[in-house]
Amino acid sequence: MQIVNALKDAKQKLITSDSAKIDAESLLCSVLKCDRSKLYAYPEQVLSMEQQTSFNKLIALRAEGHPVAYLTGHKEFWSLNLYVSQATLIPRPETELLVETALTLIPDDKETKLLELGTGTGAIAIAIASERNKSNITATDLSAKALLVAQQNARSHHVENISFKEADWFEIADIDSYDLIISNPPYICADDPHLQQGDVQFEPVTALASGADGLNDIRTIIKQAQHYLNSRGWLLLEHGYNQAAQVRQLFKDNGYTASASIKDYSGIERISMGQLAHQTTTTELN
Ligand code: GLN
Repeated sequence: MQIVNALKDAKQKLITSDSAKIDAESLLCSVLKCDRSKLYAYPEQVLSMEQQTSFNKLIALRAEGHPVAYLTGHKEFWSLNLYVSQATLIPRPETELLVETALTLIPDDKETKLLELGTGTGAIAIAIASERNKSNITATDLSAKALLVAQQNARSHHVENISFKEADWFEIADIDSYDLIISNPPYICADDPHLQQGDVQFEPVTALASGADGLNDIRTIIKQAQHYLNSRGWLLLEHGYNQAAQVRQLFKDNGYTASASIKDYSGIERISMGQLAHQTTTTELN
């Protein structure tokens, strides 16, 4: 079958996906090991039997709901092509806001000490490391399998300033030490029906769900981080679209002197940050 017809055929099989065209193209590119422009440049090229069989298999899995990123083994984040596996969450475009905000807090001419909790694919730590080569980053995860993915990503992007450690939140952290602690922790309510839908149902639930109100891990992190931040350090967290006020309250309840939330491009407060120091810079951040 020719490329153009294979794509047409696949799109019909993916009728329930709202991204059928792009899904089919990404999956065919992963079989042909090419980029999308080739599909348009050579639409008449005929697929070999082997290519056709692999493509059909991927389309059948996608039609069952498997995420494209798990089928191709890759996801783009911060212009970095990252390897992903089912041991890790698939990096989300929204999480780039966490990186953007972190970069505003990390000078590029000074050594800074950073801790990332729950690194998964390593997306956040690697994106920061690629922009701030003077930063000294420790990235942890509870999952040894996820850490292997993150280490492979760091190697393939030639990032050397991250040390990956298997740990439960602050287990291996140094006291009074970090300029920035950053995390995209699990924050979905345990009974949220979304956990059983779409791409999310295939992702590790331990990376997604966090107790009845989704805030269990965020509560732990905010409480414990104060022992590990240095005197002017910031804790920066991603959270659910409706959790910003509760997260700011948690900062306050735990004695943080400054807190602020940042809106994403759709105007939703997706991340919040807190600082223990007395010099408040909240207004600068709004
Ligand atoms: N943003 C993800 C989602 O809503 C959740 C990621 C997380 O829990 N850290 O699917």
